[in-house]
Formats: sequence, C-alpha cells, structure tokens
Amino acid sequence: MDNSELDPRTLNNETSLGDSRLNNKVVTLVYGCQMSERDADTLTEITRRLGYEPSDDLETAALVIVNTCCVRESAENKILGKIGELKKLKERNSKVKIAITGCMVQQPGALERLQKRAPHVDIWAGTHNLHEFSSLIKKVERGGKVAEVWHEPKATLEIAPLPEKGKRHASVNIMYGCDNFCSYCIVPHVRGRERSRKPEEILQEIKSLVESGCREVTLLGQNVNSYGKEFSPTYDFADLLQEVDQIPWLLRIRFITSHPKDLSDKLIKTVAEGKKLCEHFHLPIQSGSNFILERMNRKYTREYYLSRVQKIHELVPNASLTTDIIVGFPGESEEDFEQTLAMMKQAHYSQAFTFMYSKRSGTLAAKMEDQIPLDVKKRRLQKLMSVQNQESLEWRQLMIGKLVEVLVEGPSKTNPQRLTGRTRGNELVVFNGPQEIIGSLVNVRINEAGSWTLMGEVEDFKKSWTFEFNAGI
Ligand code: SAH
Ligand code: SF4
Repeated sequence: MDNSELDPRTLNNETSLGDSRLNNKVVTLVYGCQMSERDADTLTEITRRLGYEPSDDLETAALVIVNTCCVRESAENKILGKIGELKKLKERNSKVKIAITGCMVQQPGALERLQKRAPHVDIWAGTHNLHEFSSLIKKVERGGKVAEVWHEPKATLEIAPLPEKGKRHASVNIMYGCDNFCSYCIVPHVRGRERSRKPEEILQEIKSLVESGCREVTLLGQNVNSYGKEFSPTYDFADLLQEVDQIPWLLRIRFITSHPKDLSDKLIKTVAEGKKLCEHFHLPIQSGSNFILERMNRKYTREYYLSRVQKIHELVPNASLTTDIIVGFPGESEEDFEQTLAMMKQAHYSQAFTFMYSKRSGTLAAKMEDQIPLDVKKRRLQKLMSVQNQESLEWRQLMIGKLVEVLVEGPSKTNPQRLTGRTRGNELVVFNGPQEIIGSLVNVRINEAGSWTLMGEVEDFKKSWTFEFNAGI
C-alpha cells in the first residue's frame, strides 16, 4: 500500500477532490461492536486525509459510509433497511457516493447477493482491505463502481484516527480476529485468524492519545486473554497491562472481551495491583448449562466459570462483572434455560447483554437440527431480562451511600443540565456539577439507584488533582 496517500502532508485537494463532488462532507454510519466503531473511525480518518470533512447531515453529504455488522440477523436487517433508504437519497442526489464496508460484506458469498440487491452502492469493501479505502475512493471519484473483498488479511496496518482534542476516552485495538470458533459465531469467519499487535506500537498509540488529552482507554480484542500467544519470548496480556499502567497522565484502563477459558490468575492479580486498571471484568458466560456450553464450543464448564468468578472476588474486592448471554441456542431445553437463570443469580452481574440465538450461515450451529422456535426464544429472553433487571437494580442499590470515583464525560444525554460519567466498575452516574470538571476524576456520593443509572452529588471536586491538571489543558 502507498503510505503517502495517508500522510496529511501529501494531501492534495486538487486531485482527490474532483469536480464531481457536491462538497467535501462525509457521513459515517456504524453498526455493531466497538471494533466496528474503531474501524469506522479509521475509515473517517482515511477520508479526512483525502480532504473530506466529517458531518452528520446525509442530505448534504458527498460520501456516505456504512460500516456493517453481521453478528445477528437483527443487525443485518437494520442495515439492509438503511441501504434501502440510501437508494432514495441517491435518487434525490445522484452525485452522492455510497460505500458499504465491514463484516456483512466480508461474509463468504455475501458480496454478489448484496450487489444484486443494492446496485446503487458505489464502493464495497470487506474487513481485510479497509486500509486501502483511500484508493477505492479515488477510483470511484474518477467514475464507476468498485467492489473488493480480500479473503484474508495481507498486512495489519493500523491507521490511528487523529485523537479528537478534548475527547477523554478512546478505544485501542490490541489484536484482530479470533481463533475460537464458538459454534454460533460468525466473527472468526469475517475477521480472520487471531493476530496481536506489537506492544511497542500499542504503547506508542496510547501515549499519543494521552498527549492530546485522552484519559481513559479501552483495549479491544475478541479474546484479549490470548493476546501475544504467538510472541517469543513470551509476553502476554498481563505484561501489556502492566506497561500501559505506567503511562503518565493516563487515568483509567479498561479492556474487552475476556474469554473465561483463558482468564489467568496472573491477569486477575495484575488488575488487583494496577493503579489505573478498572476493577471490571466483561466475562461472557453465554449459557449456564454444561450441555449447551459444550455444543457452543466454549471450552469451559459452569463450574470452571464460577471458580474464575470466585477468584476475581477473592483478589479484586468490589470488582464488577458483566456478561453476554444467548437464549434459544439449538437444543436448549427448559432445564438448560433454568440453569442459565440460576447462573445469573449466582454470578451477580452488574449488567448483562442478552440475545436471542440468531442462525448465521456458515457456522456449525446453523446446521444443528434442533433449532428453537422464535416464540420460545422470545419468551426466554423476556424472562432472562426481567431477572437481570432485578439483579442489576439490586447491585446498584448496594452502592447507595458509597463514595465512588467517576471520570466526568460531559452533559447527561437525558438531562443536559446535569453531568454524567462512569465509575471504575463501568456504571453510569448522573450528578450536578460545574462544566469545568469535565475530563476530571471526581468523587461522587451515590444517593439514588435508577433503572439504568446511579444518581449522586459531587464531593470536593476542587481537591481532585486531575481537576487542576485538566484545567491547564
Ligand atoms: N468475542 C466476544 C464476543 C463477540 S460477539 C466473546 O467471545 O465474548 C458479542 C456477543 O454477541 C457474543 O458474546 C454473543 O453473546 C453474541 N452473539 C454472537 N453470535 C451470536 C448469534 N449467532 N446469535 C446471538 N448472539 C450472538
Ligand atoms: Fe465469537 Fe467465540 Fe470468537 Fe467471541 S470468542 S468472537 S463469541 S468465536
């Protein structure tokens, strides 16, 4: 790939912004997980280096990018609806260019089907060739359409989006792909085999984010606990966390996702000892039944999972635990489902992301015969959600009266007069306070637990060293 295309110093508006453009606005829409969001930021960055300007207004856009997700059918349906709406946009404005990128396009055999369905799309690109997006745009600007999907990644080229000044949180990829092949999951099929980025590259990226004001990073990987398994000499995820923890002025470090089978004692100890490592583990259980876990190819039992939870509580007191759960996996009996409900009560999750099983073609589970009817899946999901809502509320109620450390993110979405931020355990807190404390760590006394958030009052923010430090930025 020609790196000069990505260097802002070689940016040439004359050649990259042809006369065919309406203006230079790009709108990026994103569906799916934080990795998909991170990829969408990379795409926006590539267009920015070509002279485009990020915008939210579809009507005046010269380029619309939709970075897609295919983890469940519901996501795909939403995206297909959006692609349909963009057809109408193109009818109103024939000059707008439309790019559809990412996981949905990467699925084996999907491109042809999608192209037939949406001939109005100008650029199709899969997950493995996103870094060459600038040359795809240039081709389309010269006229015509382009579709490119690589079957496997040829290089791991990281194009870090320019840190937005004042933005306190950023996601950083530490690895790509997944080798686990859980039987329900399309991710290994669209993201390829596991590849870890070099520690020095990751540390450098975080340091430059911190220099531009970032105070919290989330390290991203499908299974961060297997980070570095190909490295020699050995260097694992806990080693990486220990180094990130030393970066001056970084205040908080989070990571997702931890696969339970690879969660080592060393990692739990590292979180316990780290100054900036948040005491929060996102540890997807998927099911509480050993029979279903085996069919899911998760490679752990409920007993092993619970022993990991116990270890977390032993070494990291007050750690908060969140999870992902699938209901209605093929062959799931009422009894299997009951075991999932029991698991929820045993593990005391502060939050759970719950999903109905969705058949993904090309996966092992899609071929299983005993698929569960939709009405049963719906009923189980409702039940699971109501049990979890009660659990989450009880968890939040336990926090009433406690003083918690909050990194202030900005005005609350539901009430802009108030501020919002997150605890180390990743719980959302809403409170009153002056605008100057945005970006600082403050102590908040919790006085109320709502259905989704905690409410409280800031105590002594002027004593916070980060307040004084951030005031100088
Ligand atoms: N790598 C992460 C998860 C990535 S996908 C992990 O192993 O935990 C995010 C979540 O989507 C999964 O944890 C799972 O709960 C859910 N999911 C994945 N495939 C699904 C499918 N076919 N149907 C329903 N939910 C699914
Ligand atoms: Fe999917 Fe399993 Fe890999 Fe997570 S670990 S991305 S659920 S295959």
